[in-house]
Amino acid sequence: VLVVHRRDRSSGRWDKAAAILRELKDKCRTPIGKLRQVADDMAFEMHAGLASEGGSNLKMIISYVDNLPTGDEKGLFYALDLGGTNFRVLRVQLGGKDKYVAKQEFEEVSIPPHLMVGTSVALFDFIAEALKKFVDTEGEDFHLSPGRRRELGFTFSFPVKQSSIASGTLFKWTKGFSIDDAVGQDVVGELTKAMERVGLDMSVTALVNDTIGTLAGGRYYNPDVVAAVILGTGTNAAYVERAQAIPKWHGLLPKSGEMAINMEWGNFRSPHLPLTEYDQAMDVESLNPGEQLFEKTISGMYLGEIVRRVLCRMAEEAAFFGDTVPPKLKIPFILRTPHMSAMHHDTSSDLRLVETKLKDILEISNTSLKTRKAIVELCDIVAIRGARLSAAGILGILKKLGRDTVTEGENRRSVIALDGGLFEHYMKFRNSMESTLKELLGDASETIVIEHSNDGSGIGAALLAASHSLYLEVEES
Ligand code: BGC
Ligand code: MG
Repeated sequence: VLVVHRRDRSSGRWDKAAAILRELKDKCRTPIGKLRQVADDMAFEMHAGLASEGGSNLKMIISYVDNLPTGDEKGLFYALDLGGTNFRVLRVQLGGKDKYVAKQEFEEVSIPPHLMVGTSVALFDFIAEALKKFVDTEGEDFHLSPGRRRELGFTFSFPVKQSSIASGTLFKWTKGFSIDDAVGQDVVGELTKAMERVGLDMSVTALVNDTIGTLAGGRYYNPDVVAAVILGTGTNAAYVERAQAIPKWHGLLPKSGEMAINMEWGNFRSPHLPLTEYDQAMDVESLNPGEQLFEKTISGMYLGEIVRRVLCRMAEEAAFFGDTVPPKLKIPFILRTPHMSAMHHDTSSDLRLVETKLKDILEISNTSLKTRKAIVELCDIVAIRGARLSAAGILGILKKLGRDTVTEGENRRSVIALDGGLFEHYMKFRNSMESTLKELLGDASETIVIEHSNDGSGIGAALLAASHSLYLEVEES
């Protein structure tokens, strides 16, 4: 009797766990028809965001970049790339058309977590200090033209209301950052003051979002680049718009007739987004409730956390890991997307890697193969939803540009520069994103190319610092 009773109980648990998973799978469905609706909504919101300030959840920020790099840029330039868990400092010697980036060096510094939620002064002092140390190691094979001050392109990967190419105020923080006294401040002003405090002599000549940097870095090598997408800790896209198609732009029409737009698509929303109770709960408890909903279903900061939340419910309501809920499983953000990716890609027949991850990260042992298989399926559901939604976002941009269809007799290629850890390292995500985009585009997919722009955002910022150098006009006249 006892044995029968036990078996009943465990099969009851399984039914419950399977039901939770099935319900999730159903709520996360992204059939092609739904993705097309998301793409249409994206294109619609792009129009609305360009029409007027505040006209859409998409900010469609005017970057003041109306000329992308050409290859003619010359000289020594620095860049600072801040936006994720690390920041990078780099210097490049630009050699013009025959040499391009003649020499480059960089350093990566991780940001102590307390600085991500502290004060503006503490964060910027830390960055300026690291930058100064890096500048002090500049060797003799880098050449600053005589009489010039060093110049810097600042990649700042948060929503900024630009007021010129080298100034802008922070709308809000995203990802893991939350520093109240920096909101509304000019970030270039904050950085410049910090550089003065640490005794670093340098001017910031370009302030760019990482998507704009990636767009510039991509265009430098390939004139067919029309858009850039970041799939990393956060997500966002930028593209080149016709200046005439930006009603909210009241400035002079640029000579090029073009303007790069930072969409801030992480804040996109649409009634067609497949959202679940787990997304809603995560949003409510996040640093930025009610914001960045698209980002929260797609990007690296959140995917692992969504998986953890589902596992938590399965542990609580279906005793998925036995009679008690594993204590570590209750810690928000403990299961990071790279861990999830490792489990998702486990090809061993007994899912050894899943077992190891569960043990190392969540201190869960003695799981059955069936349990581990269910966890892989869970990772799949969450990752594939994000990947397919990002493909729909890209289709939205191509629609807005009129590049989602083939015109007969026309032989035009559109290249999209992609970067970010999720794209670079999470292969199932990347493959799903690419194959979904293909499927969405049909015949037109022949004309669209996704190109990995490895760390293009830093180089891109240095290039834009060069093309907006304070010395350019003096030299030309
Ligand atoms: C930010 C964007 C950034 C993206 C990728 C988002 O959270 O709002 O400005 O481009 O992350 O780094
Ligand atoms: Mg990289």
